[in-house]
Amino acid sequence: MTKLQITPPAPVQRALDLLNAAGFEAYIVGGCVRDALRGAEPHDWDCTTAAKPDAICACFRGFHVIETGLQHGTVTVVIDKMPIEITTYRIDGVYADHRRPDSVTFTDSLTEDLARRDFTVNAMAYHPENGLIDPFGGAEDLKRGVIACVGKAEDRFEEDGLRILRAMRFAAVLDFEIAEETARAIHTKRTLLHHISAERIDTELTKLLCGAAAERVLTAFSDVLFTVLPELQPMYGFDQKNPYHDYDVYTHTLKAVSAAPPEPVLRWAALLHDSGKPHCFTEDGRGGHFYGHAAISKEIARSALHKMKCDRKRLDRVLLLTELHDTVWNGTEKQLKRTVQKIGFEAAYQLLQLHKADVAAQAARFRAERLAESDELLAMLDALREADACMSLKKLAVTGGDLLALGIPQGREIGQWLRLLLEQVMDGALPNEQEALLQYVRQRIGEKG
Ligand code: ATP
Ligand code: MG
Repeated sequence: MTKLQITPPAPVQRALDLLNAAGFEAYIVGGCVRDALRGAEPHDWDCTTAAKPDAICACFRGFHVIETGLQHGTVTVVIDKMPIEITTYRIDGVYADHRRPDSVTFTDSLTEDLARRDFTVNAMAYHPENGLIDPFGGAEDLKRGVIACVGKAEDRFEEDGLRILRAMRFAAVLDFEIAEETARAIHTKRTLLHHISAERIDTELTKLLCGAAAERVLTAFSDVLFTVLPELQPMYGFDQKNPYHDYDVYTHTLKAVSAAPPEPVLRWAALLHDSGKPHCFTEDGRGGHFYGHAAISKEIARSALHKMKCDRKRLDRVLLLTELHDTVWNGTEKQLKRTVQKIGFEAAYQLLQLHKADVAAQAARFRAERLAESDELLAMLDALREADACMSLKKLAVTGGDLLALGIPQGREIGQWLRLLLEQVMDGALPNEQEALLQYVRQRIGEKG
């Protein structure tokens, strides 16, 4: 259902009013119009206007104005703490580097400004009094659920190769189809992505991976994924010859991606977790095996994410999850607590979530049972968190000082005692209570002495 009336937030309406009062056309444009029309809350509100950058600045004298990209006509104005990006109507010049226009020209025509935008659903403008301006049929494509380039797809990708991934990203996030001509051009022009910076690719690919239809899009456009990450190509069609797997490695991977919660770390870990499998396949009477694949996957993940210039935090976490994804869980609290002790709660939780996604993408005949086990582990970890269970020296009811007071000499021995007590508490052999722990130590010293 498309909604015809859009009510921009008050600061955005104020920006439009101020520009209009100074005699300039002004509209909300792009993603916010698309999202408002499909009934979703826009996360930012961009404006486009006939006013040139100087005139925009003059209109907002007294407001905090950030000259975001003045040479491209973009100014950010802060109204009631809300940053609003305002861009002068513009036509992009020649794109010699398949990345950015060599120059931009300002124009008085809104239609010309909309024509430079990537997809029809992103090329609509709206003004509360003038209504929707939609020269390229964006509203119709939005209703039908179609991503189509504005103009000739091949030319638009030649201008800016990133649009190839953006088309796939919007299709994955909105669960839309990609129009036939646009899809064809994505395949034929995919190597233009070699001209695009790693950071921009990473941004789009991460959003794509987190999209509801990531599996469908990456099935149809695996060639694009392998253009950016050729190290994933060996997974394609790789038969696992294993009773636990109904799917080849790539299909399994995409199913794991879509089964994982839509968060960057988990979706990336799901994409990379089995990337090492094709490199360590062996076969015997029982079928195919992939001994040691997690360690190889980790190295492939490292090189892939390095290339993406992924930040340290995400890199470290994805590598950790990839390395440990094949942990065999035995259903005990003891194993869970050891895991938390080693990698912390958050990572342990993610590891179980990845495990569940992995299981969900395995052979159907084991799935229900293994999913139930996986849910039990997650519930068990929740309960441990809820109970604030002791899994670190910080939480132990006894300190080094307490042991000193018992006469244990300062230094290494104290640490050994503390670790022993922690293990006893984690394994449930002792309660985490000061007197019980000290009593245990006294008794052991007595036995030794
Ligand atoms: P979201 O912010 O939800 O990711 P968006 O559509 O707002 O989606 P942005 O990257 O913020 O995407 O860009 C804002 C608008 O600028 C787009 O809607 C589109 O009209 C235009 N645009 C952005 N990137 C490009 C591009 N590479 N080529 C052509 N037009 C683009
Ligand atoms: Mg946006």
